[in-house]
This record gives sequence, C-alpha cells and structure tokens, in this order.
Amino acid sequence: MCPDDRRLSAYFDGEIPEALQQSVVQHIEECSLCSGKLKHLTEIRRELKEAPEPNLEDSMDRVWRKIQSKKAEKEVSNFWNRKIYIPVPVASAAIFLFLVLAISFIILLNKEGENDVAEVPIQEEVINVNVKNLEELLEYLNSQDTVVEVTIRLPEEHIFHLAGEPRLLRAVDYKGK
Ligand SMILES: [Zn+2]
Repeated sequence: MCPDDRRLSAYFDGEIPEALQQSVVQHIEECSLCSGKLKHLTEIRRELKEAPEPNLEDSMDRVWRKIQSKKAEKEVSNFWNRKIYIPVPVASAAIFLFLVLAISFIILLNKEGENDVAEVPIQEEVINVNVKNLEELLEYLNSQDTVVEVTIRLPEEHIFHLAGEPRLLRAVDYKGK
C-alpha cells in the first residue's frame, strides 16, 4: 500500500520517524507511482531554489511611486492648488480676471480694521484709466481709497502669450505675499 502524500512529503523532508523510514524507502524503490511523486517533489524544490529572489526593493519603489502619483492627483484636484489648462485666448482673459480678483482682495484687506466698509459712502462713477501694463494698473488701484470694481478692456487685435500659470489664492492666504 502506498504511503499517503503527507507521509511521502515528510519522508522527502527527512521528517519521518526512523522506524518507518526503511519501509518507505523500500516501497519507493518498488513503486513507480511513489518514485514518480518523489521525483516531482525534487523538481519543485530545485525550481524554487533556482527561482530568483523577488526584488523587494524594486517592488517597494514601484508601489511608492504609485502612491505618490495618486497623492499628486489628489493634490491637483484640490481646488486651490489645481492647475488650470485652458486655451491660450481664454487663458489670457483668465489671468486678468484672477489679477482683478487678487486686486480686490488687497483692497478689502487694507480696509479691514481701518474702518467699516459699510460706512464708506457708496459712490458710483465710471473712471477710464489708461494703463500700459498691469504694474501701472496695480499702482493706480493701490492709490485708490475705495473699493473699486475693475473692468478691463483688452486691446483689440493684440496677441497674448501665456507666460505663466494662473494661481488662485484665498484672501486669507494673500497677506504678506
Ligand atoms: Zn506507491
């Protein structure tokens, strides 16, 4: 009678009681089925020994990079940090819009603590200011003591180049920048 697989495997690993060993050896010599199984076990052991050790450092690196890129994706989707990709003509208009937003933040921040905005008499008048560049516009706006709404009329037939990436800032983060 053939030893069961567990016993055969134990014999293969040298973990069989000495008293049983002799009978198993004898059986294997006579039984092609069991000697075949043993041969198979030997092959498996050899293959396992020859198989290269898995490169843990490499796979750790890969996993780490994946985590990082997932994290980056999340950061990008964060509203205040997101990168905005828009066609260039729209982008140039958008930059102006953001600058105007930033400008109104400054003005509102400057007002804070000095006097109540509501007490400032509301005057509505349209002033046309011709400025050559944004620095001039900023200078003009900073020299104004009131909360102003700015409409920027872009020059006609002018080619705009996207020179940077618009960045959104919260008013609370703007202080000191
Ligand atoms: Zn057998």
